[in-house]
Amino acid sequence: MRYFTCHCCDNRLFIDNTLCQSCHSELGWCSACQTISALTPLGDGRYHCSNPDCVSLLVKCQNYAVENVCNRMIPLHSAEAGIVLCDCCRHNRQIPDLEVDGHRHRWAKLESAKRRMFYTLDLLGLPHEVDPQKAPPPLTFAFLADEVPSDDGEWQSHHALDPVYTGHADGLITINVKEADDVERERLRRDFKEAQRTLIGHFRHEVAHYYWDLLIKGHDEEAACIAVFGDHNSPSYAEALERYYAVGAPVDWAERHVSAYATMHPWEDFAETFAFYLDMVAVLDTAGNFGITPTGYEEDLHAMLTTFQRLGMALNEVNREMGLVDIVPEIITPALYAKLEYVHELILRQRLQAPAN
Ligand SMILES: [Zn+2]
Ligand SMILES: [Zn+2]
Ligand SMILES: [Zn+2]
Ligand SMILES: [Zn+2]
Repeated sequence: MRYFTCHCCDNRLFIDNTLCQSCHSELGWCSACQTISALTPLGDGRYHCSNPDCVSLLVKCQNYAVENVCNRMIPLHSAEAGIVLCDCCRHNRQIPDLEVDGHRHRWAKLESAKRRMFYTLDLLGLPHEVDPQKAPPPLTFAFLADEVPSDDGEWQSHHALDPVYTGHADGLITINVKEADDVERERLRRDFKEAQRTLIGHFRHEVAHYYWDLLIKGHDEEAACIAVFGDHNSPSYAEALERYYAVGAPVDWAERHVSAYATMHPWEDFAETFAFYLDMVAVLDTAGNFGITPTGYEEDLHAMLTTFQRLGMALNEVNREMGLVDIVPEIITPALYAKLEYVHELILRQRLQAPAN
């Protein structure tokens, strides 16, 4: 992720900011110049982007102006054509029930993670269409709850709510709102013996299933699943799921997989590997932009992995100094390298084939 500079006062700005702490300008993401920019108010909810090279006419996304869970702007001409949501919020099919105490705050955390995911997808030139006419299936999100927190903070099942499973089906990514509760997510991380469990990690994992459908299904299934990840038709997903929760991962899972969960089924192996790749790209992009490493994202996987592992070793040690979990717990074995190579080439190929935007 990049950082940005306030055009009014030269203060450093970050992707989630809505107010410049130095000059107190309101801020928003301008899609025209792809920056967090100070907003010059023009009245009637209209603004100018203060980037002198841009000066686009903008209005706030409805989820910014009304709901306070977004910081993106919409071009005025799009708003006049009836578009009220930004290019991130437009993907939402269902938002949390805002009558439930705390859900607005949890929704804001989900949106923040979603915006970061979209930033990385755009960096890689990965398509994410919302219009079903243009590229089926459209990518949509549902943030749902099957439990609600009681006054003492304990989550309790609610008879009126259907069970919610975080997952992906036909372009719809469902995330259980409970994942945005730090205590609950940490409890689940411990129960499932995971090295990490984060909101952005959920988005990166689930969007990987979307890209399997979009880029591999019917195009590259043989090469992907049989040669690299194993046969996704045998055992079936249902059989694999039952087996995984009965006996767990093999003890030597780390020799061939990025996580224990990746051993469950080839689809989960692909999703975990793809999510790790997105983690790596996002971290390298950030480190490159802050001048910590010489390069950010590049086309040589070996160079990326070398930089990422060197950086990861330092970041892990920094985190341990602060009593936090390792940022990069993964070990790159030859088997895992081959899977990452597949993901890397899939993304490069897709970028070369995509029509110039
Ligand atoms: Zn400022
Ligand atoms: Zn702009
Ligand atoms: Zn928005
Ligand atoms: Zn999955």
